[in-house]
Amino acid sequence: MTHPAQPTASHFINGEYVEDTNGTPIPVIYAATGEQIATVYAATPEIVDRALSTAKEAQKAWAKMTGTERGRILRRAADIMRERNHELSVLETYDTGKPLQETLIADATSGADALEYFGGLAGSLTGEHIPMGEDWVYTVREALGLCVGIGAWNYPTQIACWKGAPALACGNSMVFKPSETTPLCALKVAEILHEAGAPAGIYNVIQGMGEVGGALVTDPRVDKVSLTGSVPTGKKVYAAAAKGMKHVTMELGGKSPLIIFDDADIDNAVGGAINGNFYSSGQVCSNGTRVFVQKGIKEKFLARLAERTGNAILGDPQDEATSFGPMVSENQMNIVLGYIEKGKEEGARLICGGKRADMDGYFIEPTVFADVTDDMTIAREEIFGPVMSVLDFDTEEEVIARANDTEFGLSAGVFTNDFSRAHRVIGQLEAGSCFINSYNDAPVEAPFGGVKASGVGRENSKEAIKHFSQVKSVYVRMGDVEAAF
Ligand code: NAD
Repeated sequence: MTHPAQPTASHFINGEYVEDTNGTPIPVIYAATGEQIATVYAATPEIVDRALSTAKEAQKAWAKMTGTERGRILRRAADIMRERNHELSVLETYDTGKPLQETLIADATSGADALEYFGGLAGSLTGEHIPMGEDWVYTVREALGLCVGIGAWNYPTQIACWKGAPALACGNSMVFKPSETTPLCALKVAEILHEAGAPAGIYNVIQGMGEVGGALVTDPRVDKVSLTGSVPTGKKVYAAAAKGMKHVTMELGGKSPLIIFDDADIDNAVGGAINGNFYSSGQVCSNGTRVFVQKGIKEKFLARLAERTGNAILGDPQDEATSFGPMVSENQMNIVLGYIEKGKEEGARLICGGKRADMDGYFIEPTVFADVTDDMTIAREEIFGPVMSVLDFDTEEEVIARANDTEFGLSAGVFTNDFSRAHRVIGQLEAGSCFINSYNDAPVEAPFGGVKASGVGRENSKEAIKHFSQVKSVYVRMGDVEAAF
C-alpha cells in the first residue's frame, strides 16, 4: 500500500504535478524507523529546462499585477496553510523526523507567517521622489526576474516559504529545489500557492541533488540564487552565481557563541542553552553550540542542565508527547556520532548523553560536554546535531575575543541581568542574528542571516525585500538641455 507521504509526483511545474521517472530515484526515508516511505525522481535536464522556461515566461505578467493583487494571493495561501497545519505538520514530521510537538508550531505556521507578512508588504513596495530644484529623479522598485531557491533539510516548509514569499511579493517567479533528503514539503507549498490563485509557473518545485542545484545556478535565465545550506556548498554556489553576475542570498552554517554571565537567571540560561542546542535535535543553523559559562556558576549550571536534559522524551515523533526526535538521516547520525567520539578522545568531560539511543531510527541522546577548550574539534566545527559544548571563562573581555575567534558569524546570545553589559557585549560580537536573555527566536518581522562565512544577505523582515528587488532611477529634466556644442 502506498504510504500517505508519497507525493502525487516528483515535481510541480506550471501549476501542476509532473513526473519523469527517467531521473535518478531519490528514496525518502522516515528517520524514526529507517523505513522508505516515498520515492521521487531527480529532475532530468528536460525537467530543469521546463521549470526555468515556464517560470521565466510567467514572471512577466506576474510583475505587471499590482502589489496588492499579488499580496492577496500570498495572504490567501497563508490562510490555507494554517487551515491545513495539522496535515502539513504530519508530513513535515515524515520528511524530517522532527517531533510533531515542534512541527505543529514551527514549520507550516512559520511558512504561513512569511506568506502573510510579505503578502501584506507587497502593496507598499514603492520608489521615491527626489527633488532636484526644477528637475527631479524618481526611483522604481523592480523585480529581479527569475529566482532560484535551494533548500537545506532541517526546515523544508519554512525555507520554501521564507524564499518564495518575498520573491513573489516583489514580482519575481521562483524555481525551488528542496534538499534531496527532504523532498516532500515544498511540493505542498507550490500546491497551496496555486490553490490560492498564483498563476501557473510562478512557483515551481523540482527535485534533485547538488547536480540539479548546479544546473539551476549556472543557467543564464536565472537572475538570483538564494541558498540555505552549509558553508562549503555556499562557497561553490556563490562562485557559480558570480560567473553570471547573479544576485545572491547565502544562509549558511554557524558555530555560534552563547555567553552566560554569573549574574544570569540560571533556569532561563539553561532553557536558552536547551533551545539553542536540542530543538530539532540540534539541526538548526543558528544554534548556540559554544556555551561559554562564567566560572562562578559553572557547576550549578551543569547540574541543572543535566537534570533538565534528562527530561527529554525520545520516541515516536508522530506522538505529540515526544519532545526529541531522530537525526534526519543515517548519514547525519554517523557524522554526529563521529564528533561525539572526537570530543571524548580530545578530553572533553561528558556530562550526559554521548551515544546512539537504544531504539529504532537514527536517534542520538542529547549530549553535553563540559571543560571544552577552544581548540577542540567539537568547539570549532559545525556538528549539526544534539551536541552542546560548555566552555569556561573569567572575564567579559576574554569571552568576547574567544566568541569571535571563528570563521562563522551567524548568531550569538548573552544571558545576564546587567543590561548595560548585555548591550555592550552584543555590540562587540561578530554575528548577524543576536539574542539577549533568549535564544533562537526567529519571527518573520526580524532580519535573519549571518556575517563572515555564515553568509550574505538577510531573510525575513523588510530587509528581505532589498534582496529580491532592485532600484531603477530616472532623472527627469523639466527645462532645456545644455550641451557644450
Ligand atoms: P548542504 O550544503 O549539503 O545542501 C544544501 C542544498 O544545496 C541542498 O539542496 C543540496 O542539494 C544543494 N547543493 C549541494 N551542492 C550544490 C551545488 N554544487 N550547487 C547547487 N546546489 C547544491 O546543506 P544541508 O546538509 O542540506 O543542510 C545543513 C547545512 O545548512 C548546515 O550547514 C546548516 O547550518 C545550514 N543551514 C543554514 C540555515 C540558515 O538559514 N543560515 C538554515 C538551515 C540550515
